[in-house]
Formats: sequence, structure tokens, C-alpha cells
Amino acid sequence: AKDAGRGTWRFFEAEMNRRLQARKALEADLRRALAESRFTLHYQPQVDLDGRRLVGAEALLRWDHPTHGPLRPAQFIPLAEETGLIGPIGAWALAEACRQAVAWPSLPRIAVNISAGQFRRAGFVAMVERTLRETGLPPQRLELEVPEALLLVDTEAVIAGLARLRSLGVSIAMDDFGTGSSSLGTLRRFAFDRIKIDRSFVQGLRPEGEAMAIIRAVLGMSRALGIRTHAGGVEDERQAALLKGEGCEEVQGYLFGRPMTAEAFTTMLAARPPE
Ligand code: C2E
Ligand code: CA
Ligand code: CA
Repeated sequence: AKDAGRGTWRFFEAEMNRRLQARKALEADLRRALAESRFTLHYQPQVDLDGRRLVGAEALLRWDHPTHGPLRPAQFIPLAEETGLIGPIGAWALAEACRQAVAWPSLPRIAVNISAGQFRRAGFVAMVERTLRETGLPPQRLELEVPEALLLVDTEAVIAGLARLRSLGVSIAMDDFGTGSSSLGTLRRFAFDRIKIDRSFVQGLRPEGEAMAIIRAVLGMSRALGIRTHAGGVEDERQAALLKGEGCEEVQGYLFGRPMTAEAFTTMLAARPPE
């Protein structure tokens, strides 16, 4: 039995070594990708539910990995956070999204995702200010999407940073609302401009179901607090109609457009009738 135990331990040791090696390799790849500009942004349209006008675009990070192919953020953002590489990668994404928005004057707003680790890094707010200055994007056209977990720790410093950004004219959206542990208290502690309801609620939408009750409650609460509302992951007309019926203002999802390359987005903008 003793030997068997030792064998199991050796197996775990080998497995852990293998994972550590894989992680190290991916970290080295991340550093190289940054140096060789292998990141790109895809853009997904955001529309208002009333007139279905284009109100903005969300920038979504992609990594074109030399051997694994195109990777989505879930496959590398956690490691980027652990290694601190989220700083330079996030700064690149913000600058690129701002430059692109300047080249799309008919696009009202560009939304950029900021992870909690990225926001808490020293100099984050100053970096945003510098980027706005250097790209010439009016702050009113920039929205930062922050996760609700951001407000769980370090609250004073975070609230001061968010307030500073808002005072510049940048709007702040709480991303993925409903997936974390934020409460009415969290929402009252900081005046968000917008709440983005997570797509998991939209995808389970049925007229009298539980997801519907949650969405109704969130929309009611947002209205009471004067916060604008957005729902993600809208894939069909039925979902759009239910959301509209409940007074949700803006949506995003495959029904209105998938995340696309800057080139495809430019073509789409050119094809839209003037408003
Ligand atoms: P998110 O902010 O919730 O972004 C929306 C995700 O839902 C995107 O996944 C998008 O491709 C996907 N999506 C949009 N419409 C639909 C739909 O109708 N149906 C379905 N099934 N999915 C839809 P993606 O691109 O894989 O991004 C995943 C997450 O990575 C984002 O979630 C965001 O939290 C994070 N992320 C993306 N770009 C950045 C970035 O530049 N910086 C940081 N820190 N995080 C980023
Ligand atoms: Ca987002
Ligand atoms: Ca989400």
C-alpha cells in the first residue's frame, strides 16, 4: 500500500510538472506575442432596442497564436493577470480601440473591457488619460466595462479611480451583472452609467421563467437608481422582444452582429443608411 501511495505521488508530481511546463511555455508565448504585436481586436455592434440604431461597439481581444491558432480571452487573460502582462496587453488594447474609434467618427461609442487586476495596477487611471490625449478620442466616446468583482476589495481606491474617470467624461459600465456577488449596496456605492446584464440570463429567457423575473428585477432597480441598461447575448427575436417589453434600453448579440474584424466593421459602417 505504501508503494502504491508513492506511485500515486510520483504521478501527481509528473502531472504538476507537466502543467507547470505548459504554463511557462504559454507565458513565454504571451511575452513574445506582445513584442510581435500578435493581438488584435474584434468589434461587436451595440444597438438600442427602440430604433435598432448603432450606439456603440465593444472591443474584444483576440490572440493569433502561432501554433494554437486564434485564442479567446478566456484562454489567456487569467495567465496575463497572474504574470502582470495584463498591464501592457490591456494598455495596447485600450490604445488600439481608441485609435480605431477615431477612425470611425460615425460610431457613437467604443467600449473596452478592463479586468480587475488591470484596474488595480498603479497608474491605471493616468494611463487612460494619456491614451485619450495621445489618440485624440473625446472621453465622452469611451466606455470602460469593469467586472462587478472590482468593487469587492480595495473599495476606497477603486471608487476614487472610477470617479476620476467619470469626471473626465468617460462612462463606466458594470459588466456581467448577476454573475458575481454585487448587491444593491454595491450599486449605490458607486454611480455606474450602465449595467450590462450577463448573457446567461438572456439565454434562459422564457416569459414566466426565473431568468425573466431576475431581469425584471434588475431593470426595475436600475431605473430606480437612474442607471442605463444593456443585455448581452441576444441571439433571436423572441429574446429581443421580451427584453424590449421589460424596458431594456440596449442590447448586443449574434442577432445584431457577431464580433468582427476592424475591416468587416468598417464595411458594415459604410453600408448602413445615414441616421
Ligand atoms: P464579455 O465582456 O462578457 O464579452 C462578451 C462575450 O460574449 C464575448 O466573448 C463575445 O464574443 C460573446 N458573445 C457576444 N454575443 C454573443 C451571443 O449572442 N451569443 C454568445 N453565445 N456569445 C456572445 P469573448 O470575445 O470570448 O470574450 C470573453 C471575455 O473576455 C469578455 O466577456 C471579457 O470579459 C473578456 N475580454 C475581452 N476582451 C478583453 C480585453 O481587451 N481586456 C480584458 N481585460 N478582458 C477582455
Ligand atoms: Ca464586456
Ligand atoms: Ca459576459
